[in-house]
Amino acid sequence: MTEYTAWALAEGIRTGTFTAQEVAQAHLAQIAAAESQVAAFLTVTAERALAAAGQIDARRAAGDPLPPLAGVPMGVKDNLCTEGVATTCASKMLETFVPPYTATAVERAEEAGAVSLGKLNMDEFAMGSSTENSHFQITRNPRDLSRVPGGSSGGAAAAVAAGECAFALGSDTGGSIRQPAAFCGVVGMKPTYGAVSRYGLVAFASSLDQVGPLTRTVRDNALVLNALAGKDSRDATSLDRDWGDFTAQLDGGVKGMRIALPREYFDRGLAPEIAAAIRGAADTFARLGAQVEEVSLPTLEYALPAYYVISSAEASSNLARFDGVKYGYRSPHYSDLDSLYKNTRTEGFGREVKRRILLGSFVLSSGYYDAYYKKAQQVRTLVKGDFDRILRDFDCILSPVAPTTAYKIGEKAADPLQMYLGDVYTVPVNIAGVPALALPCGADSQGLPIGMQLIGRPFGEGDLYRAGQAFEQDREGEKSCV
Ligand code: GLN
Repeated sequence: MTEYTAWALAEGIRTGTFTAQEVAQAHLAQIAAAESQVAAFLTVTAERALAAAGQIDARRAAGDPLPPLAGVPMGVKDNLCTEGVATTCASKMLETFVPPYTATAVERAEEAGAVSLGKLNMDEFAMGSSTENSHFQITRNPRDLSRVPGGSSGGAAAAVAAGECAFALGSDTGGSIRQPAAFCGVVGMKPTYGAVSRYGLVAFASSLDQVGPLTRTVRDNALVLNALAGKDSRDATSLDRDWGDFTAQLDGGVKGMRIALPREYFDRGLAPEIAAAIRGAADTFARLGAQVEEVSLPTLEYALPAYYVISSAEASSNLARFDGVKYGYRSPHYSDLDSLYKNTRTEGFGREVKRRILLGSFVLSSGYYDAYYKKAQQVRTLVKGDFDRILRDFDCILSPVAPTTAYKIGEKAADPLQMYLGDVYTVPVNIAGVPALALPCGADSQGLPIGMQLIGRPFGEGDLYRAGQAFEQDREGEKSCV
């Protein structure tokens, strides 16, 4: 059962092939078996899960129609608030924080019937690309336990890849859903900015953060996003629009679709095996009837520095609330208000978080604001313009997700700049606010998953799912032939 898709599990529960409690039990057993190696979960809420599953079974027994995700086991990244269940952001700062409310995204998934199994490991406050910045534990990539699962939603991607849950909710500020999805061989969507409410998502960089699903198939991803997307009066940046049903046009194929392949994305630093896999994907799309053309996206190299300036600036402001006064960790060592703040933050935050706060405070400070923050905002406008220009003529852009496949645990941990460079293909998407879908497109010579990214127009999620589905079906077909 732990290999079934969310779609199949929901269908099986609806038709009575198995009960929601059996499904929850099977996944809890898989968690018990896999966690000593994978370490994706920070909290497992077995009792709550079995109770929620029991309610689904009772509803079915009473003859009530079941919602689309009824009984499907999910995992939730630990920066999404869950009422009565610890939400730590993988930080010592929030080690004992139990929120009094639930994030809208989690609430909507639960309203759609999903059963939460617990909270997933991440880089502290979502800052990182390998999940090695967690205060609590190192999550391992289920495809190769000596390697990182990617990050910051590394726990989410690993849990889905290891069959511990059928899908997971992650967050993506600069690639944190897509890059771990690529590293672990699963499907991840960063929706259009404003598609999913950020209410209850612990803020990293508010103008970039989006919640989205990690799943094993494209269809599952569309199914979960159906539940998440929509206006929320508690998040003023959530969009008021009718998103329709993302699963409705899944099987429409790519005939006549126009796909852009940016030349610059193949220039430097991209592993040759990944370049070959992306070109192979382009050939597949062409064979399936799409029109694939090379284009130029010259702002690529400026997006990364702009992202690190903007996201750190916003983080330095957002994280000012963790001061030892209202909630979370409070240092026992203080003699006045200043030393309370200082020691709390010194002891409560890890190195990477401190680095971002310092960088962000610096770029916002008088005398440097114009040179860094303002300049980065100007670059942001240029990047957005580049995407707008290309997406006027094309339905989507095909690109790598990351320059390498999953690397060894510890390999980049000591060199933050190396780590940042790995985000080059994902951050432009957040800077521009557009949606992007990451999905598997092959494996390297060591058998590690390679991911590709389809970047779409604002509100173009449906197109991305349709293209992703066509590709996935084609590759699946190939697999079943051999
Ligand atoms: N790796 C990027 C960073 O460290 C993106 C993180 C994210 O999307 N949350 O900022």
